[in-house]
Amino acid sequence: MFTLPRNPATIVNVEENALVRSTLTNSLREAGFLVHEAASAHELQRFTREKPDLIVLGVHLPDGNGVDLCRSIKEDPDTASSLILLIADDSSQSGDRIRGLEIGADGFLAKPVNADEVVAHVKAMLRFRHNEEHYHLLTESIPHFVWMARADGQAEYANSRWYEYTGLPPSESHGLSWLQQIHPSDRLKARKTWENAVATGFPYTVEYRLRRADGSYRWHLAQGLPFRDERGQIVKWIGTCTDIHAQKTAEAELRLRDRALQAVSEGILITDPRQIDNPIIFASPGFERLSGYTVGEAIGHNCRFLQGKDTSPDTLAQLREGIRSARPTTVELLNYRKDGTPIWMSLSVSPIRNEEGEVTHFVGVQSDVTERRQMEQQLRQAQKMEAVGQLAGGIAHDFNNLLTVINGYGEMLLNRLKVDDPLRESVSEMTKAGERAAALTRQLLAFSRKQVLAPSILDLNSVVIDLEKMLRRVIGEDIRLATDLQSPLDAVKVDRGQVEQVLLNLAVNARDAMPRGGQLTLRTRNVALDEGYARDHPYTHPGAYVALVASDTGHGMTPEVKARIFEPFFTTKGPGVGTGLGLATVYGIVKQSGGYIEVFSEPGAGATFEIYLPRAERAVRSSKSHPGEARPAPRGSETILLVEDDDAVRALSRLILRQSGYTVLEARTAQEARDAAFRRAEPIQLLVTDVVMPELGGRELTERLLIVHPEMRVLFVSGYTDDAIVRRGVSEEEVNFLQKPFTPLALASKVREILDSMPAS
Ligand code: ADP
Repeated sequence: MFTLPRNPATIVNVEENALVRSTLTNSLREAGFLVHEAASAHELQRFTREKPDLIVLGVHLPDGNGVDLCRSIKEDPDTASSLILLIADDSSQSGDRIRGLEIGADGFLAKPVNADEVVAHVKAMLRFRHNEEHYHLLTESIPHFVWMARADGQAEYANSRWYEYTGLPPSESHGLSWLQQIHPSDRLKARKTWENAVATGFPYTVEYRLRRADGSYRWHLAQGLPFRDERGQIVKWIGTCTDIHAQKTAEAELRLRDRALQAVSEGILITDPRQIDNPIIFASPGFERLSGYTVGEAIGHNCRFLQGKDTSPDTLAQLREGIRSARPTTVELLNYRKDGTPIWMSLSVSPIRNEEGEVTHFVGVQSDVTERRQMEQQLRQAQKMEAVGQLAGGIAHDFNNLLTVINGYGEMLLNRLKVDDPLRESVSEMTKAGERAAALTRQLLAFSRKQVLAPSILDLNSVVIDLEKMLRRVIGEDIRLATDLQSPLDAVKVDRGQVEQVLLNLAVNARDAMPRGGQLTLRTRNVALDEGYARDHPYTHPGAYVALVASDTGHGMTPEVKARIFEPFFTTKGPGVGTGLGLATVYGIVKQSGGYIEVFSEPGAGATFEIYLPRAERAVRSSKSHPGEARPAPRGSETILLVEDDDAVRALSRLILRQSGYTVLEARTAQEARDAAFRRAEPIQLLVTDVVMPELGGRELTERLLIVHPEMRVLFVSGYTDDAIVRRGVSEEEVNFLQKPFTPLALASKVREILDSMPAS
């Protein structure tokens, strides 16, 4: 801390001549000063420690020279602050005077001097010191570095804050050495600015990091002003350096936050609830990317413009409640992009509070969850289809047994009735209705994927080519049928009859969608479904597939219809036109064959069904189309073990087989079948068994019975099977199958066919 000069000022009068000394002392005391006297250097020492304001020092002293004394006083930091007025002899030369000033004397007078002259001089010196100390006090007490440099740019003064900060002695701060304190990265800029200012004489400001005594750096703002004389010449540069580290780091932090806001892919919105209608006051680039609106279009508006007709009012109410009660709230809601396309947003809104805890703004973070929601919907749809399939399969199973019996006895009855019997017509109508019911049940089974398949290695091109003629008949003359078949095409392993059914159903639908004509195109392609596809389509596996694509130019469908077309009994066609089972069947067949189906359609833009079937490893064998056509009333006398848990079906089968001449052993359960097999010592030529039985599957039963009767051939009968049996290979071509509901002729023919074929080795 600096203190102002004491009042009255203390003066030591050092003079060897007692008369001269006391004359001056009196004059000084009259002028109001506190005066001590000393006749020698030695006496002076008594007072120097008290730091007198001024020492009037004669050059000639009995014990030394005033000039030397002046130097030692000025060199000792404890005494240097006292002003010294050197009084020289009139004989002393101007050399002495110069020397005296050089060694630090603050004033100089040569004898002869009168006391008044000395007093006037002393007053002037103290006034000057007084002013100087004011300035000093000023520069030292302001919280900045204050500096001064010569017109040529060399620094010559800095306040003590600079030395404290840098830890440097004054000698290392003058000239241009201060540049060394600047961070290397900022140094060139600082130097250029300074040199330019000195060269042009313009005030300047520059920011740089300055090294502290401890080696750390802090940001400073340096400002410099030229100080000119009356002719306009620059005499000094005066400036300050202000610590702006806190602002700079806060600024950098803000910039970082701003860049982070710009970088995130989520949309970020800030709204101001204190303005009318809580308008958006900030929107991030992420918001632009997601919504298609520019920031400019969003600012000043309530977020409402993002909502549309299908945005859930309940969700909006939940959101409003969150805002009203200033609670952080997260919702998923349907928004609309600028181009009108819907986008599902996950939106988290949180209140922003000021220091007083008042809500000043809300910040909303939006992310696009459309894809995830679509996936969930696909998954839900798949699960729903699965459940409906289960139900349909169960119904079909029971119906098949009933229809076997109804149709079986109907046919037998019809065979017995004479051609002109009046009942014939009625029975015939009954069996026809039964057959239609059987066809419907087959479709249900196909949908529920519980149908017994007879897959073979196939070339889909050949299926399309063989079926072309029939399809043309189905679609009629107003619709063109175009094919675009890739060749060579990889093989697939599917049931040929089922693929034909798929093509037929798709063609029928295409026809119905093009009442005024158009084009149906069938395409085949080898395709590879990659990981990306599998990711976007739950339940699919990447790999090699063969695509069968049917596109029409019909009326297409709305998204709502598209979402439901695979549901059984869903139809938009009038009663009696559509059954709603066509695509359900297609779906079931494709799924059971290990494939996938995708639909693309928009109202007025036709429809495309893409079916992907897995590529088969084996090459195509020349496939004989439909084996096992009925032969006329085949008969035999072999022994047959009949295993069937449904009493009515078993009774019908027994009747058919006995009437065909066979010996029939009957069993209702697996246990009964085993007992019968053990009891029978003679050979059993054939086992006719249901595939699905309560306690033991047909396949396991067969394996056990074959141990006892290895000669036995096997016919599986089923209207229903589950995927496990199909996968375990029961449905391979070499295994014999009869699909329920079967006719008496079909059973008799199949039995004969098996008994007459070469035994499997
Ligand atoms: P159906 O043909 O008996 O109505 P589907 O299961 O075959 O039953 O089809 C269900 C519904 O899907 C149809 O009623 C129709 O609305 C729609 N659909 C199917 N195929 C097409 C198509 N190619 N173009 C337009 N809509 C179709």
